[in-house]
Amino acid sequence: MTQAPVPDQTIRDSNGRVLLFSCDDFVNDICLGNSCFICGAAPGTKEFNYEHVVPRWVLRHYKLFGAEMTLPNGEFHHYDSYGVPCCKDCNSFLGDHVEIPVSRLLKGRFDQVAARLDDKAMLLLFIWLNLLFVKTHLKDRLLPVHRDSRKGSGKIADAYDWPDLHHIHAVARAPFVGTEVGRAVIGSIAIFPVTDLRAGETFDWIDLTAGQTVAIRAGETGIVAVLNDAKMAQWAIAHILHSIDGPLTTTQLRELAARMAVANMDLKNRPVFGTALSKEAPHNVRLWVETDPQPAFNDFDPSRFGTIMAFALRDLLDRLEIGGDRGADKIRAHLLTGRVTFIGDEHGRFVSRGGKLLR
Ligand SMILES: [Zn+2]
Repeated sequence: MTQAPVPDQTIRDSNGRVLLFSCDDFVNDICLGNSCFICGAAPGTKEFNYEHVVPRWVLRHYKLFGAEMTLPNGEFHHYDSYGVPCCKDCNSFLGDHVEIPVSRLLKGRFDQVAARLDDKAMLLLFIWLNLLFVKTHLKDRLLPVHRDSRKGSGKIADAYDWPDLHHIHAVARAPFVGTEVGRAVIGSIAIFPVTDLRAGETFDWIDLTAGQTVAIRAGETGIVAVLNDAKMAQWAIAHILHSIDGPLTTTQLRELAARMAVANMDLKNRPVFGTALSKEAPHNVRLWVETDPQPAFNDFDPSRFGTIMAFALRDLLDRLEIGGDRGADKIRAHLLTGRVTFIGDEHGRFVSRGGKLLR
Protein backbone atom coordinates (compact mmCIF):
# COMPACT_ATOMS: atom_id res chain seq x y z
CA MET A 1 0.00 0.00 0.00
CA THR A 2 1.16 3.53 -0.77
CA GLN A 3 0.53 5.65 2.31
CA ALA A 4 2.13 9.04 1.63
CA PRO A 5 -0.40 11.91 1.98
CA VAL A 6 0.41 13.05 -1.57
CA PRO A 7 2.50 10.97 -4.02
CA ASP A 8 5.53 12.40 -5.88
CA GLN A 9 4.26 10.97 -9.15
CA THR A 10 0.80 10.71 -10.60
CA ILE A 11 -0.47 7.14 -10.23
CA ARG A 12 -2.43 5.58 -13.11
CA ASP A 13 -4.12 2.23 -13.63
CA SER A 14 -3.31 -0.08 -16.56
CA ASN A 15 -5.80 1.82 -18.74
CA GLY A 16 -4.01 5.10 -18.11
CA ARG A 17 -6.76 6.43 -15.86
CA VAL A 18 -5.39 8.70 -13.13
CA LEU A 19 -6.04 7.19 -9.71
CA LEU A 20 -4.23 9.94 -7.86
CA PHE A 21 -2.61 13.13 -9.10
CA SER A 22 0.79 14.15 -7.77
CA CYS A 23 0.76 17.58 -6.23
CA ASP A 24 2.79 19.04 -9.13
CA ASP A 25 0.52 17.57 -11.80
CA PHE A 26 -2.56 18.69 -9.89
CA VAL A 27 -1.28 22.25 -9.63
CA ASN A 28 0.20 22.51 -13.16
CA ASP A 29 -2.40 20.59 -15.21
CA ILE A 30 -5.62 21.18 -13.29
CA CYS A 31 -5.21 24.33 -11.21
CA LEU A 32 -3.05 26.39 -13.55
CA GLY A 33 -3.58 24.50 -16.83
CA ASN A 34 -6.70 23.75 -18.83
CA SER A 35 -6.83 19.98 -18.50
CA CYS A 36 -10.09 18.24 -17.66
CA PHE A 37 -10.44 18.76 -13.92
CA ILE A 38 -11.67 15.20 -13.39
CA CYS A 39 -9.62 12.86 -15.61
CA GLY A 40 -6.73 15.22 -16.38
CA ALA A 41 -7.01 14.92 -20.21
CA ALA A 42 -5.06 17.70 -21.92
CA PRO A 43 -6.98 20.14 -24.11
CA GLY A 44 -7.14 18.90 -27.73
CA THR A 45 -6.75 15.22 -26.79
CA LYS A 46 -10.48 14.68 -26.23
CA GLU A 47 -13.74 16.39 -26.94
CA PHE A 48 -14.23 19.07 -24.30
CA ASN A 49 -17.34 20.40 -22.74
CA TYR A 50 -17.99 23.05 -20.20
CA GLU A 51 -18.82 21.97 -16.65
CA HIS A 52 -20.98 24.52 -14.88
CA VAL A 53 -19.68 25.43 -11.44
CA VAL A 54 -23.29 25.60 -10.30
CA PRO A 55 -24.86 22.51 -11.92
CA ARG A 56 -27.46 22.92 -14.65
CA TRP A 57 -30.17 21.13 -12.65
CA VAL A 58 -29.70 23.73 -9.89
CA LEU A 59 -29.89 26.57 -12.43
CA ARG A 60 -33.08 25.10 -13.86
CA HIS A 61 -34.78 24.01 -10.65
CA TYR A 62 -34.08 27.25 -8.74
CA LYS A 63 -34.54 29.45 -11.83
CA LEU A 64 -31.04 30.91 -11.72
CA PHE A 65 -30.47 31.37 -15.45
CA GLY A 66 -29.65 35.04 -15.73
CA ALA A 67 -29.32 35.40 -11.92
CA GLU A 68 -26.09 36.64 -10.41
CA MET A 69 -23.91 35.19 -7.67
CA THR A 70 -21.43 37.14 -5.55
CA LEU A 71 -17.88 35.92 -5.95
CA PRO A 72 -15.11 36.01 -3.33
CA ASN A 73 -13.88 39.34 -4.79
CA GLY A 74 -17.31 40.91 -4.33
CA GLU A 75 -17.94 40.81 -8.07
CA PHE A 76 -21.25 39.62 -9.46
CA HIS A 77 -21.18 36.87 -12.04
CA HIS A 78 -23.97 35.15 -13.93
CA TYR A 79 -24.51 31.65 -12.56
CA ASP A 80 -25.05 30.21 -16.02
CA SER A 81 -21.77 31.47 -17.51
CA TYR A 82 -19.63 30.22 -14.67
CA GLY A 83 -17.80 27.00 -15.67
CA VAL A 84 -14.50 25.07 -15.66
CA PRO A 85 -12.75 22.92 -18.33
CA CYS A 86 -14.08 19.37 -18.39
CA CYS A 87 -14.05 16.69 -21.10
CA LYS A 88 -17.38 15.51 -22.48
CA ASP A 89 -17.02 12.01 -21.00
CA CYS A 90 -16.38 13.31 -17.47
CA ASN A 91 -19.13 15.87 -17.85
CA SER A 92 -21.69 13.18 -18.57
CA PHE A 93 -20.19 10.88 -15.90
CA LEU A 94 -20.68 13.60 -13.28
CA GLY A 95 -24.22 14.18 -14.53
CA ASP A 96 -25.20 10.51 -14.23
CA HIS A 97 -23.33 9.57 -11.05
CA VAL A 98 -23.40 12.76 -9.00
CA GLU A 99 -25.75 15.48 -10.21
CA ILE A 100 -28.84 13.38 -11.00
CA PRO A 101 -28.69 11.47 -7.68
CA VAL A 102 -28.03 14.72 -5.73
CA SER A 103 -30.91 16.46 -7.47
CA ARG A 104 -33.22 13.60 -6.40
CA LEU A 105 -31.89 13.95 -2.87
CA LEU A 106 -32.34 17.69 -2.47
CA LYS A 107 -35.57 18.44 -4.28
CA GLY A 108 -38.74 18.75 -2.22
CA ARG A 109 -39.68 19.84 1.28
CA PHE A 110 -37.19 19.70 4.15
CA ASP A 111 -38.87 16.71 5.82
CA GLN A 112 -38.69 14.79 2.55
CA VAL A 113 -35.00 15.62 2.15
CA ALA A 114 -34.23 14.75 5.80
CA ALA A 115 -35.93 11.35 5.41
CA ARG A 116 -33.60 10.52 2.49
CA LEU A 117 -30.37 11.34 4.33
CA ASP A 118 -28.95 7.94 5.19
CA ASP A 119 -25.18 7.24 5.32
CA LYS A 120 -24.93 6.71 1.58
CA ALA A 121 -26.79 9.94 0.85
CA MET A 122 -24.63 11.91 3.32
CA LEU A 123 -21.48 10.66 1.60
CA LEU A 124 -22.84 11.63 -1.81
CA LEU A 125 -23.80 15.06 -0.50
CA PHE A 126 -20.35 15.56 1.00
CA ILE A 127 -18.66 14.55 -2.27
CA TRP A 128 -20.92 16.94 -4.18
CA LEU A 129 -20.03 19.85 -1.86
CA ASN A 130 -16.33 19.08 -2.38
CA LEU A 131 -16.97 19.11 -6.12
CA LEU A 132 -18.69 22.50 -5.94
CA PHE A 133 -15.83 23.91 -3.85
CA VAL A 134 -13.16 22.61 -6.24
CA LYS A 135 -14.98 24.04 -9.26
CA THR A 136 -15.43 27.42 -7.57
CA HIS A 137 -11.73 27.66 -6.82
CA LEU A 138 -10.44 26.41 -10.14
CA LYS A 139 -12.54 29.15 -11.70
CA ASP A 140 -11.12 31.77 -9.34
CA ARG A 141 -7.74 31.68 -11.06
CA LEU A 142 -9.39 33.42 -14.00
CA LEU A 143 -11.13 36.10 -11.97
CA PRO A 144 -9.46 39.33 -10.94
CA VAL A 145 -9.21 40.17 -7.22
CA HIS A 146 -10.03 43.78 -8.00
CA ARG A 147 -12.89 44.74 -10.21
CA ASP A 148 -10.99 47.92 -10.99
CA SER A 149 -7.84 46.83 -12.88
CA ARG A 150 -6.02 50.01 -11.73
CA LYS A 151 -5.91 48.48 -8.24
CA GLY A 152 -3.83 45.55 -9.47
CA SER A 153 -4.07 42.61 -11.83
CA GLY A 154 -3.92 39.81 -9.23
CA LYS A 155 -6.35 36.94 -9.58
CA ILE A 156 -8.41 35.67 -6.62
CA ALA A 157 -6.61 32.34 -6.77
CA ASP A 158 -3.16 33.96 -6.49
CA ALA A 159 -3.77 33.98 -2.75
CA TYR A 160 -4.50 30.24 -2.62
CA ASP A 161 -2.30 27.49 -1.49
CA TRP A 162 -3.16 24.98 -4.23
CA PRO A 163 -1.90 21.85 -2.40
CA ASP A 164 -4.63 22.52 0.20
CA LEU A 165 -7.11 21.78 -2.55
CA HIS A 166 -5.46 18.46 -3.42
CA HIS A 167 -7.34 16.49 -0.77
CA ILE A 168 -10.67 18.14 -1.57
CA HIS A 169 -10.08 17.37 -5.26
CA ALA A 170 -9.39 13.71 -4.39
CA VAL A 171 -12.75 13.57 -2.57
CA ALA A 172 -14.52 15.31 -5.46
CA ARG A 173 -13.29 12.75 -8.01
CA ALA A 174 -13.94 9.72 -5.77
CA PRO A 175 -16.95 8.53 -7.84
CA PHE A 176 -14.85 8.69 -11.04
CA VAL A 177 -11.99 6.65 -9.55
CA GLY A 178 -14.20 4.38 -7.44
CA THR A 179 -12.38 5.59 -4.34
CA GLU A 180 -13.59 4.35 -1.00
CA VAL A 181 -14.26 7.34 1.26
CA GLY A 182 -14.43 6.28 4.91
CA ARG A 183 -16.92 7.89 7.29
CA ALA A 184 -14.06 9.48 9.23
CA VAL A 185 -13.04 11.49 6.15
CA ILE A 186 -16.42 13.24 6.04
CA GLY A 187 -16.28 16.68 7.65
CA SER A 188 -18.66 18.46 10.01
CA ILE A 189 -22.08 18.75 8.39
CA ALA A 190 -25.07 20.61 9.80
CA ILE A 191 -28.45 20.38 8.07
CA PHE A 192 -31.42 22.53 9.09
CA PRO A 193 -34.65 23.75 7.55
CA VAL A 194 -34.47 27.35 6.32
CA THR A 195 -37.67 29.33 6.24
CA ASP A 196 -37.14 33.02 5.51
CA LEU A 197 -36.42 32.60 1.87
CA ARG A 198 -35.08 35.82 0.44
CA ALA A 199 -37.81 37.29 -1.68
CA GLY A 200 -38.25 35.02 -4.68
CA GLU A 201 -34.93 33.28 -4.06
CA THR A 202 -34.68 29.64 -3.06
CA PHE A 203 -31.00 29.01 -3.65
CA ASP A 204 -28.01 30.35 -1.74
CA TRP A 205 -24.34 29.38 -1.87
CA ILE A 206 -21.44 30.77 0.11
CA ASP A 207 -17.91 29.58 0.29
CA LEU A 208 -15.63 30.59 3.15
CA THR A 209 -12.29 29.63 1.65
CA ALA A 210 -10.05 30.29 4.64
CA GLY A 211 -12.11 27.92 6.77
CA GLN A 212 -12.71 25.44 3.90
CA THR A 213 -16.40 25.73 4.72
CA VAL A 214 -19.42 25.97 2.44
CA ALA A 215 -23.08 26.72 3.02
CA ILE A 216 -25.82 25.96 0.58
CA ARG A 217 -29.53 26.49 0.69
CA ALA A 218 -31.56 24.43 -1.77
CA GLY A 219 -35.22 25.28 -1.30
CA GLU A 220 -36.12 24.67 2.36
CA THR A 221 -32.91 22.77 3.10
CA GLY A 222 -29.84 24.54 4.49
CA ILE A 223 -26.52 22.71 4.70
CA VAL A 224 -23.24 23.88 6.20
CA ALA A 225 -20.19 21.67 5.69
CA VAL A 226 -16.54 21.87 6.66
CA LEU A 227 -14.55 19.96 4.07
CA ASN A 228 -11.25 19.17 5.75
CA ASP A 229 -11.87 18.90 9.50
CA ALA A 230 -12.86 15.23 9.91
CA LYS A 231 -15.81 16.43 12.06
CA MET A 232 -13.60 18.31 14.53
CA ALA A 233 -15.12 21.80 14.10
CA GLN A 234 -18.54 20.67 15.25
CA TRP A 235 -17.05 19.88 18.69
CA ALA A 236 -16.17 23.53 19.18
CA ILE A 237 -19.69 24.76 18.42
CA ALA A 238 -21.68 21.79 19.72
CA HIS A 239 -23.46 24.06 22.23
CA ILE A 240 -24.71 26.25 19.36
CA LEU A 241 -25.73 23.33 17.16
CA HIS A 242 -27.63 21.73 20.06
CA SER A 243 -29.39 25.01 20.92
CA ILE A 244 -31.02 25.26 17.49
CA ASP A 245 -34.56 23.94 17.87
CA GLY A 246 -36.32 25.54 14.91
CA PRO A 247 -35.82 26.58 11.31
CA LEU A 248 -32.97 28.99 10.52
CA THR A 249 -33.08 32.21 8.59
CA THR A 250 -30.64 32.79 5.73
CA THR A 251 -28.69 35.12 8.03
CA GLN A 252 -28.48 32.46 10.74
CA LEU A 253 -27.40 29.80 8.25
CA ARG A 254 -24.56 32.02 7.08
CA GLU A 255 -23.59 32.83 10.67
CA LEU A 256 -23.43 29.11 11.38
CA ALA A 257 -21.09 28.73 8.39
CA ALA A 258 -18.89 31.55 9.73
CA ARG A 259 -18.75 29.91 13.17
CA MET A 260 -17.90 26.49 11.73
CA ALA A 261 -15.25 28.04 9.46
CA VAL A 262 -13.60 29.84 12.39
CA ALA A 263 -13.72 26.68 14.54
CA ASN A 264 -11.93 24.85 11.70
CA MET A 265 -9.32 27.62 11.44
CA ASP A 266 -8.81 27.45 15.23
CA LEU A 267 -8.28 23.69 15.24
CA LYS A 268 -4.71 23.10 16.42
CA ASN A 269 -4.27 19.35 15.86
CA ARG A 270 -5.27 19.15 12.23
CA PRO A 271 -6.33 15.85 10.68
CA VAL A 272 -3.90 14.36 8.18
CA PHE A 273 -5.51 13.03 5.02
CA GLY A 274 -4.03 10.69 2.46
CA THR A 275 -4.82 8.07 -0.14
CA ALA A 276 -4.02 4.38 0.17
CA LEU A 277 -3.59 2.34 -3.01
CA SER A 278 -3.27 -1.41 -3.30
CA LYS A 279 -0.38 -2.45 -5.57
CA GLU A 280 -2.26 -5.16 -7.44
CA ALA A 281 -4.85 -4.46 -10.10
CA PRO A 282 -7.71 -3.85 -9.89
CA HIS A 283 -6.47 -1.13 -7.58
CA ASN A 284 -8.33 -0.50 -4.42
CA VAL A 285 -8.15 3.24 -3.70
CA ARG A 286 -9.09 4.46 -0.26
CA LEU A 287 -9.01 7.91 1.32
CA TRP A 288 -7.80 7.81 4.92
CA VAL A 289 -7.49 10.27 7.76
CA GLU A 290 -5.51 10.35 10.98
CA THR A 291 -6.89 12.43 13.84
CA ASP A 292 -6.08 13.04 17.48
CA PRO A 293 -8.84 11.62 19.67
CA GLN A 294 -9.39 14.98 21.36
CA PRO A 295 -9.50 18.13 19.22
CA ALA A 296 -7.71 21.21 20.61
CA PHE A 297 -8.65 24.74 19.60
CA ASN A 298 -7.05 28.16 19.84
CA ASP A 299 -8.98 30.70 21.90
CA PHE A 300 -11.89 32.30 20.07
CA ASP A 301 -10.70 35.51 18.43
CA PRO A 302 -13.66 37.91 18.04
CA SER A 303 -11.95 40.07 15.43
CA ARG A 304 -11.20 37.09 13.22
CA PHE A 305 -14.76 35.84 13.60
CA GLY A 306 -16.03 39.36 12.86
CA THR A 307 -14.06 39.52 9.61
CA ILE A 308 -15.45 36.16 8.45
CA MET A 309 -18.97 37.13 9.54
CA ALA A 310 -18.83 40.43 7.60
CA PHE A 311 -17.63 38.46 4.56
CA ALA A 312 -20.33 35.79 4.92
CA LEU A 313 -23.06 38.45 5.06
CA ARG A 314 -21.47 40.88 2.60
CA ASP A 315 -24.35 40.99 0.14
CA LEU A 316 -27.02 41.28 2.86
CA LEU A 317 -25.59 44.22 4.83
CA ASP A 318 -28.09 46.79 3.62
CA ARG A 319 -30.97 44.46 4.47
CA LEU A 320 -30.07 43.82 8.11
CA GLU A 321 -30.83 45.73 11.29
CA ILE A 322 -28.70 45.49 14.43
CA GLY A 323 -29.67 47.36 17.62
CA GLY A 324 -31.81 49.76 15.62
CA ASP A 325 -28.94 50.54 13.23
CA ARG A 326 -29.32 50.15 9.50
CA GLY A 327 -27.12 50.79 6.49
CA ALA A 328 -24.23 48.70 5.14
CA ASP A 329 -21.42 50.65 6.87
CA LYS A 330 -23.03 50.54 10.31
CA ILE A 331 -23.96 46.88 9.99
CA ARG A 332 -20.45 45.97 8.81
CA ALA A 333 -18.95 47.83 11.79
CA HIS A 334 -21.20 45.87 14.17
CA LEU A 335 -20.28 42.55 12.53
CA LEU A 336 -16.54 43.29 12.60
CA THR A 337 -16.60 43.45 16.40
CA GLY A 338 -17.21 39.70 16.35
CA ARG A 339 -19.76 40.15 19.14
CA VAL A 340 -22.91 39.93 17.01
CA THR A 341 -24.97 36.77 16.90
CA PHE A 342 -28.28 36.21 15.18
CA ILE A 343 -28.58 32.64 16.45
CA GLY A 344 -28.66 32.94 20.24
CA ASP A 345 -29.86 35.42 22.87
CA GLU A 346 -27.71 36.55 25.83
CA HIS A 347 -28.45 33.23 27.56
CA GLY A 348 -27.46 31.19 24.51
CA ARG A 349 -31.08 30.30 23.73
CA PHE A 350 -32.02 29.94 20.09
CA VAL A 351 -33.63 33.04 18.59
CA SER A 352 -36.41 32.05 16.23
CA ARG A 353 -36.27 34.10 13.02
CA GLY A 354 -33.09 35.87 14.18
CA GLY A 355 -31.56 38.32 11.72
CA LYS A 356 -34.71 38.49 9.67
CA LEU A 357 -33.99 40.26 6.41
CA LEU A 358 -35.68 43.57 5.74
CA ARG A 359 -37.61 43.74 2.52
ZN1 LIG B 1 -12.23 14.15 -18.34
